[in-house]
Amino acid sequence: MNITQNDKNYVANTYARFPIELVSGKGSFLKDSSGKEYIDLGSGIAVNIFGAADDEWQKAVTKQLSTLPHTSNLYYTEPCSTLAKMLCERTGMKKVFFSNSGAEANECAIKTARRYAYDKYGDESHSGIITLKNSFHGRTIATLKATGQDGYHTHFGPFPEGFYYAEANNFASVKDIAENNGCSAVMMELIQGEGGVCNLDADFVKSVYDYAQANDMLVIIDEVQTGNGRTGKLYSYMHYGFTPDIVTTAKGLGGGLPIGATMLGEKVENVLVPGSHGSTFGGNPVCCAGACSILERIDDGLLSQVNEKSKYIFDSLSHAAGVKSVSGMGLMIGVETQKPAKDIAAKCMENGVLVLTAKSKIRLLPALNIPFDALEKGIEILKSAIAE
Ligand SMILES: *Cc1c(COP(=O)(O)O)cnc(C)c1O
Repeated sequence: MNITQNDKNYVANTYARFPIELVSGKGSFLKDSSGKEYIDLGSGIAVNIFGAADDEWQKAVTKQLSTLPHTSNLYYTEPCSTLAKMLCERTGMKKVFFSNSGAEANECAIKTARRYAYDKYGDESHSGIITLKNSFHGRTIATLKATGQDGYHTHFGPFPEGFYYAEANNFASVKDIAENNGCSAVMMELIQGEGGVCNLDADFVKSVYDYAQANDMLVIIDEVQTGNGRTGKLYSYMHYGFTPDIVTTAKGLGGGLPIGATMLGEKVENVLVPGSHGSTFGGNPVCCAGACSILERIDDGLLSQVNEKSKYIFDSLSHAAGVKSVSGMGLMIGVETQKPAKDIAAKCMENGVLVLTAKSKIRLLPALNIPFDALEKGIEILKSAIAE
């Protein structure tokens, strides 16, 4: 087998891959084609909440595979309806639209906000959406434009209009845009993941929320990366003491299969009507059955483990040699280092630990159930790579 060569020859050249071929995995341990083992501190970018090939998830998925793997959204199916009920019961949201990725979940949120404003004003005068600088919302044309980083807004134009970028943690900047443009919504990640694991201040979030409420703007929280237990609560907004109008999620919800979910609160639960939005694979029975098995196990016991492991990582890295700062929450952690993050990630890989990077930082997104001894070993290896 010529995995690397075939990939280089035939797969679109969009990824700067690490030079290893992964062939199998169980939990937080992965194996490459030479038989070398790795401790996985990235879990497929926050996807494998319970690690690779988790037994219960596999059981739920294979059971659904052998009963009804796919039908279409012209019919009712059990896994989709159960997952929607579970999500609504645990968040207080009213309805869920299912898609296949984070970008699609955000597309649906954008469409919903625009439609909400159109229904209300009868025209496009309030179609604007405020997002934050340094955010990341996806790779489709609209979600690229929603992403508040100039580098994403070149080479693929023309882009859709109506996106405005405010400074994170600067309420005056949000207010200024809202006062000068007709806006339907503000959309943000509470911890900017791809932007370098940057937490938003609680005061800022509260001011934005209060202002949006008072001015009938929707609050959309992008929980694609922060969601599904990652930060120590089911969704990261639950740390901040408010309920968004729209919550989007994907990554970890599927536990390894593609799924996106756009949760709609009371104000917008009936904005989307038959024919206004759709997806062929959205709500796929296999993906939803897997997601149900993930979601039902994100309970208080698991979340308290997440918080314990988080504290361990913060304690071990905060004052370690070569570390400038540690950011994030729960098991979504950014480490600012003296040495370039890329070099550290390469060194870790050599020594059997897989870590991610985000901007100039090392980014850690381990499985939520990573065994403590594996985490400890992984962090020790990371620490020496940072210190070297
Ligand atoms: C990964 C990510 C997305 C995009 O998700 P895809 O599934 O790759 O489309 C959107 N928003 C945030 C915050 C993300 O981390």
